Amino acid sequence: KDVINQIAAAEIIHRPANAIKELLENSLDAGSSSIKITLKDGGLKSIQIIDNGHGINKADLPLLCERYATSKLQKFEDLQKLGTYGFRGEALASISYCSHVEVVTKTKNDGCGWKANYQDGVIIPSKPGSPAEPKPTAANDGTVITAEDLFYNMPLRKRAFKSPSDEYTRVLDVITKYAVHNPHVSWVCKKAGTSLPDISTPVNSTVKANIANLYTPSLAAELLEMPLTVLQPESKLSSTIRGWVSNANSNWARKGGWLLFINNRLVESNKIKKAIDALYTAYLPKGASPWVYLSLEIDPAKIDVNVHPTKSEVHFLNEDEMIDGICGAVQTALAGANV
Ligand code: ADP
Ligand code: MG
Repeated sequence: KDVINQIAAAEIIHRPANAIKELLENSLDAGSSSIKITLKDGGLKSIQIIDNGHGINKADLPLLCERYATSKLQKFEDLQKLGTYGFRGEALASISYCSHVEVVTKTKNDGCGWKANYQDGVIIPSKPGSPAEPKPTAANDGTVITAEDLFYNMPLRKRAFKSPSDEYTRVLDVITKYAVHNPHVSWVCKKAGTSLPDISTPVNSTVKANIANLYTPSLAAELLEMPLTVLQPESKLSSTIRGWVSNANSNWARKGGWLLFINNRLVESNKIKKAIDALYTAYLPKGASPWVYLSLEIDPAKIDVNVHPTKSEVHFLNEDEMIDGICGAVQTALAGANV
């Protein structure tokens, strides 16, 4: 059973950036307005994420890392609703199968915080000989999750990571994108032992201010806002398209300029990307791409549940209608800029 769980974990958590994505989504789900991330060796040695969200009840701690045990999704309808997004209670479990996990958490109603350690899906003693149960500890409201020695039990996988700085770059990329999409949250990311963070945003910022801060001010200054577009507005299955795109004359793609969120989860869609790139081919040199941030809200019933949750490439019903809607909005934005 452990081998199967380990394989499942390795499929979900390929590298530090995957673990960070899952952890920060949990912090967002917990209503946090502050998320601070500290990494050693690009996350390979340790990942720590501190949030000020609603915390975890002490009673939920013993089963926290058990697969499927603690998922937010309790009913089958929830599962259907979520479509391809979210890991249905697999994320923390998976992380505990490939690293040493410690959780310190405190809800508003707790008099003190609670600490628990996990390995391979189960709660373990914090010291040899002590009982495997949460221990009282001093803590602020919210949750601190630390994952150490990623892939310590998978030597081949571990050896495949040549460059911690490459992993760190990938982590910064994920956090930067979530920070653009969630400007109400204050984000910090730094390397352990350094005082100057590589990402730092104030609480209650804006999309544009975070783009200026995390990409460059000149990109933020030229961005065009797409008109808010609602498809099938009269239907219960309506979809909403929002977004910002770069001006037709400048090439920002080298700076990681592709942010697609569907129902608040960062995903990939080559089909959408190609369609937008095609609108710019008249302006940009061959092979160049615009900078694009798109946020789509789609009824989860339309999302293809046949795609495995670990694949970030998504498909949904009425994809062509959605792409027409997106392209129309991009063209309107470009036309408004008189290019
Ligand atoms: P899922 O998010 O699909 O429910 P996870 O394995 O990601 O599964 O998380 C399991 C559960 O642990 C969540 O449902 C949530 O109740 C709790 N949890 C995890 N991280 C946090 C956090 N930072 N703050 C509050 N609760 C959390
Ligand atoms: Mg989760």
